[in-house]
Amino acid sequence: MWMFFYDKSILRCHETKSCKYLYNKRVMDKEGNEVENIFRLSDDWGGLTEHGTIVPFGVGRIGRRVIPSLMKEFDIPFLIDNGGNAKEVYGLDVLDLKQAAACLREKHLKVVVTTVFYSYEKIKQDMEALGFIENKDFCIFERFAEEWNLRWRNKCVLSKVDTVITSRCTLKCKNCNMFISHIPAPHDIDINRLKTNFDLFFDCVDYVYEYTLLGGEPFIHKDIAGIISYLGRRYGDKIGRINLISNGTVIPNDEVFDLLKKYDVTVHVSDYTCSIDYKRNLEKLQERLVSEGIGHYVIPNNTWKDVIYPREGYKAENPKRHMLLCGHSTHSVADGKLYWCDPAFAAECFMGFESKEDDFLDLEANKRNYSKYEATLNIIKYLLGDVNERGYMSICERCAGVGSDNDLTVPAGEQMERKG
Ligand code: SF4
Repeated sequence: MWMFFYDKSILRCHETKSCKYLYNKRVMDKEGNEVENIFRLSDDWGGLTEHGTIVPFGVGRIGRRVIPSLMKEFDIPFLIDNGGNAKEVYGLDVLDLKQAAACLREKHLKVVVTTVFYSYEKIKQDMEALGFIENKDFCIFERFAEEWNLRWRNKCVLSKVDTVITSRCTLKCKNCNMFISHIPAPHDIDINRLKTNFDLFFDCVDYVYEYTLLGGEPFIHKDIAGIISYLGRRYGDKIGRINLISNGTVIPNDEVFDLLKKYDVTVHVSDYTCSIDYKRNLEKLQERLVSEGIGHYVIPNNTWKDVIYPREGYKAENPKRHMLLCGHSTHSVADGKLYWCDPAFAAECFMGFESKEDDFLDLEANKRNYSKYEATLNIIKYLLGDVNERGYMSICERCAGVGSDNDLTVPAGEQMERKG
């Protein structure tokens, strides 16, 4: 794992008021050479520390999940969205970019774009066409959460991580990008192993806006109640929102419903009824979520990108560019190791893909070997896409990904033949 250091003389300077953020200008490697600075936000973002004003852009699923947490920390005068459907969200007016532009300019408001990477690219073009400058006037939410909190609050804050709790599933999707249908011996991850993973993660991370549990099908984990309860009870105050992704085939028991409610878990139900006939079950689950008052989304999945792996047949020509174009909007944490995307975790842990040591970040070693500040820099650098010296994970050479350089699609949820 490629790590880098701050210059200690510069850190001392940071502690004096006169040149508070000077250390942001230079980042040093182990040999004392200056390396590329991962920080991009202009210094005036520092003015937001005292309950400053920001404007979230995007009221889709990510926006709706993180805006309530942002409202606790910042003044939010209005929201922006170009979809045109919502006029008001969380009691705030939703404007389109053209309506908002004059006010943003006049009041020098900072915009935080609450979308995934591939939607961000289009918004970035629209903002730049109106004269706004990236990282000065606006930035993507992940950079805001991670860079802003480290630079101006000295905290390790992440936007979103996922943990896979089981490789067992009720479906056998041919093109699952967690490769579940190809796993020789699907199994639940032992609850004690999961608890240790949560402990290791929160030993290094002060706050995460979203923590997502997924599988396989998480509702069939035999200790699902214990897992939700441990995460919510121990770490609920360090998590903006707990999510759980289900395929909607399973109705959990009353204890699980009580815990979903108690810890305000949002259930994301992937709807594969375009390929599989289970509409009645999915509706039953939805009815129960409604009657229990549990936040949820039902997300119709009609097509997926074909990532090709674990089949042979894909070889990235420029894996670094390919990984960044893919911009897979997930980061996995398992056994105290951080993987840039969920498929990278699944390839190594379920399919036996031989990752290189610098493909992931070992949180325990990172904590042991570096100061809190250095360790946080390493985490942020990794999550913002600078994963190692090569600039990509080795699995990206064989995985076609979900970016704009992959136009292969397959029907979502198409099933493999079941034996016996
Ligand atoms: S191409 Fe790389 S980053 Fe994208 S899904 Fe595949 S392994 Fe993950």
